[in-house]
Amino acid sequence: MAIANVKLRDELHAQSIRDPLTGLYNRRFFLDTMRRLLIGAGRQKQTFSRVSFDADTFKLFNDNHGHDAGDVVLQAISEKLLDVVPGDAIDCRMGGEEFAVILPDCMLKSAQGIANQMREVIADTQVQYVHGTLPKITISAGVSSFPQHGKTPQILLKQADEARYTAKANGRNCVVVAPKPKAL
Ligand code: GH3
Ligand code: MG
Ligand code: MG
Repeated sequence: MAIANVKLRDELHAQSIRDPLTGLYNRRFFLDTMRRLLIGAGRQKQTFSRVSFDADTFKLFNDNHGHDAGDVVLQAISEKLLDVVPGDAIDCRMGGEEFAVILPDCMLKSAQGIANQMREVIADTQVQYVHGTLPKITISAGVSSFPQHGKTPQILLKQADEARYTAKANGRNCVVVAPKPKAL
């Protein structure tokens, strides 16, 4: 009975922090982790980076191949992501076809390299579905780092998201680093 209760509690905890489709962390856990990291990093003068990315033209993909095929692709993206990022990274599905990764102890340049690796690996991924292979899909990513791009989760989010919009505007399938914030 006691073991069953512990198992149930663990399962409920996992459900409350994980996205059911991909098994990645959910948005709430991601934001909580970022807050905790900011407190620790501020104290220890450590840096960390945030990558924000989104599947390119995914609405069209769903229109052409169906939502079930789209779901399989989102799962494949998540698996590839776990292959590429360092073990201490926090990988998250923020919602829809949007993902984010926190890279602890990782400076901007390294984060940009990791984001580019993710982009390349995903662009090379072939996904089998029903009787054939689906067309490959690409991602566009934005990168921001603590402390140079901001000191709150909201500002770091905004900076990485804006860099991601620039990546979309630049033609997609690319990584953009957030610009240096203007001095106040
Ligand atoms: P962009 O390159 O600008 O990001 O274009 P987009 O088509 O990817 O962007 P848009 O925001 O227009 O569309 C997002 C699409 O993602 C629409 C929606 O159907 C799809 N989507 C969101 N969540 C899921 C999901 O859980 N499963 C599937 N299969 N599709 C999803
Ligand atoms: Mg998209
Ligand atoms: Mg989107």
